[in-house]
Amino acid sequence: MNSDQLYHKLLVPNDSKLALVVLDGLGDIATESTGFRTPLEVARTPNLDILAKRSALGRMIAVAPGITPGSGPGHLGLFGYDPLEYEVGRGVIEALGLGIDLKHGDMAARANFCSLDAKGIVTDRRAGRIDTKVCEAQCTLLAAKIKKIGDVEVIIRAGKGHRFVVVLRGKGLEGQLGDSDPHREGLPIATVKPLTKSAKAAKTAKVLAAFYKQALPLLKNCKPANGFLLRGIAHQPKIPLFEERYGLKAAAIAIYPMYKGLAQLVGMKKVEGPNTVQQEFEAAVDALKAYDFVFVHVKGTDMAGEDGNFDAKVKAIEEADAALGQLLPHVDVLAVTGDHSTPVPVKGHSWHPQPVMICGEIAGWDGQDRFTERTANLGSLGVFDAKYLIRHMQANARRLDKFGA
Ligand code: ZN
Repeated sequence: MNSDQLYHKLLVPNDSKLALVVLDGLGDIATESTGFRTPLEVARTPNLDILAKRSALGRMIAVAPGITPGSGPGHLGLFGYDPLEYEVGRGVIEALGLGIDLKHGDMAARANFCSLDAKGIVTDRRAGRIDTKVCEAQCTLLAAKIKKIGDVEVIIRAGKGHRFVVVLRGKGLEGQLGDSDPHREGLPIATVKPLTKSAKAAKTAKVLAAFYKQALPLLKNCKPANGFLLRGIAHQPKIPLFEERYGLKAAAIAIYPMYKGLAQLVGMKKVEGPNTVQQEFEAAVDALKAYDFVFVHVKGTDMAGEDGNFDAKVKAIEEADAALGQLLPHVDVLAVTGDHSTPVPVKGHSWHPQPVMICGEIAGWDGQDRFTERTANLGSLGVFDAKYLIRHMQANARRLDKFGA
């Protein structure tokens, strides 16, 4: 019996309500450049302060020590799925990000327009970073002409700038496949090759070769974006559903499609509508009437961290704190954390363990009056793998029975 089987055996249903609030990229670091303070320390957070007094605190490792995760693996880890075991291709994440409802077995590739010379040599891998409008027009052109290849449906969706996504839907498809991107200029578009020996991967490679054959002539007169490159080609993996795994009916509330998509990937129900953080928490209160578990994603903290904007990150935390208040009377166990750290001095994602707070009637007070990186260092949860977060929440909700006599 492995630990997942054990957890499953110990599941105890009850009426408790659980909420996971993810402030994207929340974790930060105190350096001389920030006056040795972090945005969490500087922000005024009356609600988080109240919660700290009935919470266990700690730090979480998103994927593995020293690994800087993207938001995809970061969220899978938070949802309790080991990001190393459940590898989700970049194409799949990108497709989810563009709001495509992927089904099991769908193949997805990240694509971008490029420039080709008369001999088919890639002269600019980003086609001079064409405007989104140009990309949209060219995707419309391709989508109008190429709807199917054999028995395989082709879905093309424009992204930002030169980027788009190609999804293949049909029987007998499988990834992963090698990129058609030669990864440097001066080379022709590479042939997509299967990375495994399966017949399905071979079929997929054939379909993509046929796709190229039909698509390139359509782009012949499109300057400068007369070619395209494919990367991260993979199928949507089969992932055990959240409800089965945890005995929790879950809803997901996010503004950005990628996070809704990641939640959908594990079987959460996405709630459409909210456009502000305030509205997200209103929707969370509403969702808890019908669901046991709600995931709320707040993006502003990560964007501010990426920009290296300390004050904006403080503001994003304060905004989330204010909106969070309305949720508190409706939850029994609440966890607040990030999917990874996005420290202001780093101006990007990082490996620093993210602070986490688990609040509930029997969480136990760690003696801290605030929720910050520094207080999290002193917490009873120590440093643990993010994939155990929901297990902690289940235990606090008395949804896990005793193991053994
Ligand atoms: Zn993130």
